[in-house]
Amino acid sequence: MLVGLCTIVAIGLWYKDWKPEPFHVSHNLFATAVAAEVEPLTWVKSTLDKSARLGNTCGVVETFPDTEVPGAIVEIVDSSCESGLPHTTGKDRIRIPKATWENNSSDWRAAVLRHERIHLLQRRQESQWREFYKKEWQYTTHAEPPPEISGEHIRANPDTFPERWACWRNRYWFVPVYQSTEAPTLRNTTTRIWDSQQKVWLDQTPYEWRVQFCTEGGQCPYQSEHPAEMSAEYATDMSRWTTPAAMSLRRFLEQNNL
Ligand SMILES: [Zn+2]
Repeated sequence: MLVGLCTIVAIGLWYKDWKPEPFHVSHNLFATAVAAEVEPLTWVKSTLDKSARLGNTCGVVETFPDTEVPGAIVEIVDSSCESGLPHTTGKDRIRIPKATWENNSSDWRAAVLRHERIHLLQRRQESQWREFYKKEWQYTTHAEPPPEISGEHIRANPDTFPERWACWRNRYWFVPVYQSTEAPTLRNTTTRIWDSQQKVWLDQTPYEWRVQFCTEGGQCPYQSEHPAEMSAEYATDMSRWTTPAAMSLRRFLEQNNL
């Protein structure tokens, strides 16, 4: 997802058996029919996730083929879908809320599409990307959190689901959490870092992480919650990112003709 959603204190219960209820769907019959083909919102897991999306509808209002990724389609969806944040589902659907699409420039649209396409490629070549994260970035991704923390406050992100728990160097867990548990919103989140060795939440990213992922000028990926988001952010504007991590991503993309 582009901004915000791509950015929660995890103590509580992990809703292993929770089944998400379908969202309220648009009254527009055509939109309802098309929306039914979209995967259910399986990434929505917790009570907070549901609260953050109250009133969201995801009816499809317009569809067109993507010009770059074969077989991919772009769906313009209800403006409230995922609180207005662009995202992807499955291997071929880019979904952009209507008002977000219409109220932004063509340059912005192009950049968003570049970012979202990377998420489709990540799902299409899952094992290669997983290998890249592990070998080049020292990241592993997991469907479950480490035993000492829980998933109650993690903000669900369709673009990192189901392996949404990211661990760097087998020690640091990056966790996007809702800032408010009273009034959670998808845009009001922060990424926290759990040090599984010291068993503490860190105040800032580890120095060695910044060396690898941030520029010498101190610019770090906005979406540090997960390697899938950082790589999409880098790839959207490759010329701007000169970090060691972005360089290895560039090689990976070239080697795989991406
Ligand atoms: Zn994203």
